Amino acid sequence: MIETIRNEINNETASLCLMNESLKKHTTYGIGGPADLMIFPKSKQDLIKVIEIINDNKIQLTILGSGSNVLISDNGIRGAVISLKNSLKQIEVDGNILYAECGTMLGKIVKHAVKNNLIGLENLNGVPGTLGGALIMNAGAWGGEISENLIHVEVINSKSEIQKIQRKDLNFSYRQSSFNKDDILLSAKFNLKKADKDIIKENFIEAQSGRKKSQPLNKRSAGSLFKNPKNNSAGKLLDKAGLKGLSIGDAKISEKHANFFINDGDASSRDMLMLIKKAHKAVKDKFNVNLSLEVKLMGFNEDEIGGLC
Ligand SMILES: Cc1cc2nc3c(=O)[nH]c(=O)nc-3n(C[C@H](O)[C@H](O)[C@H](O)COP(=O)(O)OP(=O)(O)OC[C@H]3O[C@@H](n4cnc5c(N)ncnc54)[C@H](O)[C@@H]3O)c2cc1C
Repeated sequence: MIETIRNEINNETASLCLMNESLKKHTTYGIGGPADLMIFPKSKQDLIKVIEIINDNKIQLTILGSGSNVLISDNGIRGAVISLKNSLKQIEVDGNILYAECGTMLGKIVKHAVKNNLIGLENLNGVPGTLGGALIMNAGAWGGEISENLIHVEVINSKSEIQKIQRKDLNFSYRQSSFNKDDILLSAKFNLKKADKDIIKENFIEAQSGRKKSQPLNKRSAGSLFKNPKNNSAGKLLDKAGLKGLSIGDAKISEKHANFFINDGDASSRDMLMLIKKAHKAVKDKFNVNLSLEVKLMGFNEDEIGGLC
């Protein structure tokens, strides 16, 4: 069945469509088993056709950006995984308006804004990932969030219909957005402000240097693992619980930043999940705080995840 779908996608679109593709190669963690089918559509038209084929064949669909905020099971993901990271990369600036397609890396968009003397995105300098992933996660850093200055987002829904969703019809909060579960984000428009080049450059450089000082950027991670609880810091709680340096197999809690759980070699998803559960329990036992995950778990079953949210 999967082979037939692969053939149909290959015959009817210009997408790259791979069977049993290891998801290790497509996540910053370097962890994850195979996707039954992994599809990189070449264009919006391709994507529409691919969704139609997936719907006709009633197989499960998962969307991946650049895999910088996910932990994927060693068992992989059943059905189809679509990633936009190799396409939909157009960026345009017209006056104060910046338009970008959702396969574009956030870093490229930030640099483009800075080059055009536009202020409002430079705090996000150094956040990896595509624009699509950033909008879903409402990515943020140093007090700024991607949803600020947003005008609208273009999405394609599960019926292959393209819709423009205005900012006022969306809710964003800390690392959360209200897009429908099946929406695939295609592009977005931002209303930025012109500002002094030196001020923008200074913010841009500070954002990256702050990151280098505090985060283990030379190790494989998915950034902050847990969300910060209200008026508290997940990193500080994990640190105070004495968890820095704790490891299970090659999964390790960074010595530099306790909320960065790193793959220090060839960690399995099982090692990482056990470490996450151990840390979660230690913080709950010591401070009675129930940390919730920022990183999205994919391909695990309910029994494996039990207790984490
Ligand atoms: C070293 C490091 C530092 C980090 N620092 C920060 C930080 O400072 N602030 C911060 O907020 N995050 C940070 N992150 C986390 C991560 O970079 C962001 O969440 C990023 O926005 C995720 O983008 P992605 O394309 O990699 O998404 P993925 O990880 O691939 O996916 C994340 C979610 O978005 C969905 N998704 C992705 N693309 C689309 C699309 N086009 N349509 C619909 N759904 C989609 C996926 O299904 C998934 O649910 C960091 C990560 C690393 C590795």
